[in-house]
Amino acid sequence: MDKCELVIIGGGPAGLSAGIYAARAAIKTVLLERGIPGGLVIRAQHIENYPGFENGISGSELMAQMEKQARRFGLEIRFAGVKEIQPAGDEIILETDHGRISTRAIIVATGVEPNLLGVKGESEFTGRGVSYCATCGGAFFRGKRVAVVGGGDAAIEEAIFLTKFAERVFVIHRRGELRATKIIQQRAFVNPQIEFIWHSVVDEIQGGDLVESLVLRDVRDHKTTSLAVDGVFIYIGYRPNSNLVKDLVELDEKGYIITDENMHTSRPGVFAAGDIRQKLLRQVVTAVADGAIAAVAAEKYLEEMKLS
Ligand code: NAP
Repeated sequence: MDKCELVIIGGGPAGLSAGIYAARAAIKTVLLERGIPGGLVIRAQHIENYPGFENGISGSELMAQMEKQARRFGLEIRFAGVKEIQPAGDEIILETDHGRISTRAIIVATGVEPNLLGVKGESEFTGRGVSYCATCGGAFFRGKRVAVVGGGDAAIEEAIFLTKFAERVFVIHRRGELRATKIIQQRAFVNPQIEFIWHSVVDEIQGGDLVESLVLRDVRDHKTTSLAVDGVFIYIGYRPNSNLVKDLVELDEKGYIITDENMHTSRPGVFAAGDIRQKLLRQVVTAVADGAIAAVAAEKYLEEMKLS
């Protein structure tokens, strides 16, 4: 069984930032990532509010830089999914799909994943017109008609991005006003390719081989209509990836991990960072700050363990 001092689970901004701080502090650290390092941020076409980039930066570019920076400090990144976490005295044993690892401390930075609409046709047409990532799939819709579901920052930013390719972008929102930040709203309102369909929800996604139309329902009078589209992008918020730790640490009612301001969870030796935490603002800037704090808190914890 491999032994190390600290395991970071998740290679998004929180995990990589924790990795940079831990590797610089010469803690024997392994970062485990089940997919591509970078987390959900790599799906963001353009990030304009991360300080230090006057003209913004693409999510994939920012995360590629973070990964390179972490590796430069000697962070070991392994591509493995964690199946189980078992506390064993002062140690924590992680069962991964590439073997077992024994560690003294862990930082859980497993982030969030997109909410599903839960309507007929959604899973059937995923990858065939239904998408949760405009950056990944947008270019396939050149000259076509697409819908975006949701009214938050993600939905509206991605609707604007999709107008680069699609001829018409319908934003379907369940209320009569958007949740998105005002500056983002204003950009969408002046964009002639975007049409808003207010007070409406998607009841069904229909098609043959590919998506062809949506059944929309007006939530005020329950009347249904059909909207012909070639694709639908779903941006209705996110849910925490906390299943792995649900019996290990205290979660809030939505499943986010409760920590103190130093990223301690309810269990000594288990820290949490980034979007997985119960917090006010889930952004790259807060995720990287969490990661740095979690790594320093873990370092202190490891030092105290050595002294005791
Ligand atoms: P969000 O802010 O939670 O918005 C989710 C949207 O989906 C809301 O408009 C919500 O409607 C709608 N919705 C939720 N469940 C639905 C359902 N079952 N059917 C139909 N509509 C549904 O999520 P987000 O836009 O993904 O953003 C998540 C976080 O990331 C936010 O804190 C956001 O500020 C941040 N973010 C920031 C940026 C940026 O700063 N540039 C970019 C992307 C994301 P209601 O409004 O009626 O609740």
